Amino acid sequence: MLLPSSAKESRKGDLSMTTKPAVIVAVDGPAGSGKSSICREVCKQIGFVYVNTGAIYRALGLIAKRMNFDLDDDQQLGNLVTIFNQGLEWDAKTGSLYFEGENLSPHLYDEQVGLFASKIAKNPKLRTLLLPLLRNLAESAPGGAMLDGRDIGTVVFPNADLKIFMTASLEQRAKRRLLQLQDKASPSETLPSHQQIMAEIEKRDAQDKYRGTAPLKKSPDAIEFDTSDLGIEESIATMTKMIKSKLNLA
Ligand code: C5P
Repeated sequence: MLLPSSAKESRKGDLSMTTKPAVIVAVDGPAGSGKSSICREVCKQIGFVYVNTGAIYRALGLIAKRMNFDLDDDQQLGNLVTIFNQGLEWDAKTGSLYFEGENLSPHLYDEQVGLFASKIAKNPKLRTLLLPLLRNLAESAPGGAMLDGRDIGTVVFPNADLKIFMTASLEQRAKRRLLQLQDKASPSETLPSHQQIMAEIEKRDAQDKYRGTAPLKKSPDAIEFDTSDLGIEESIATMTKMIKSKLNLA
């Protein structure tokens, strides 16, 4: 387990740093473009630590809801980050997030939690307070780390060694989300329709793209990677090859 602590504010300009800084790959893109499934596997192949920043926003959204925090109150969201930092443990190997000893990972992936996450993620104060934690998780990785999210290449690591912007059509993204839900659902569970999922993804896209702070956008120096017509295995292979070639990895 890795217990996050306060982090260096920036990768550049820290003269006291004696070890080689971790190689950072920043991956951004909209909900359901395949980022987490693809990045997790690519990281296994290239030996990098994978940091799923969306899971961190989801965990914050879940805790805020459970503790009845007001998602529109700046002060309360500031306190939320402090409480989160104190209770958080992160297993870098599996990517599981524990809060006060409970593994939150099984609770993070319903659309409702995604919408809470998206709502709190609009808050500039919360985002600023979260920056050291995100940077620390990646920078403490031995060798290299890949982070995925919405603002990794634009705000969290603007000097990343490699930036990728992953996209897929709305139609495909909804199809994938439904398959994921079907995979996890119990036989008696009623699942949302394809149309309902498309509407929820569209709503989250709009919240992420049009917010004032750290909106989802492609960094000008990011490579665009469209996975609409690729299966998961093909996407993993293509991205692994691209990263190995760009970073000169064996
Ligand atoms: O990636 P995922 O869909 O799990 O992220 C959940 C939500 O967290 C996103 O819709 C977005 O609002 C927020 N998020 C963010 N910045 C990140 C990662 C996630 O705003 N770097």
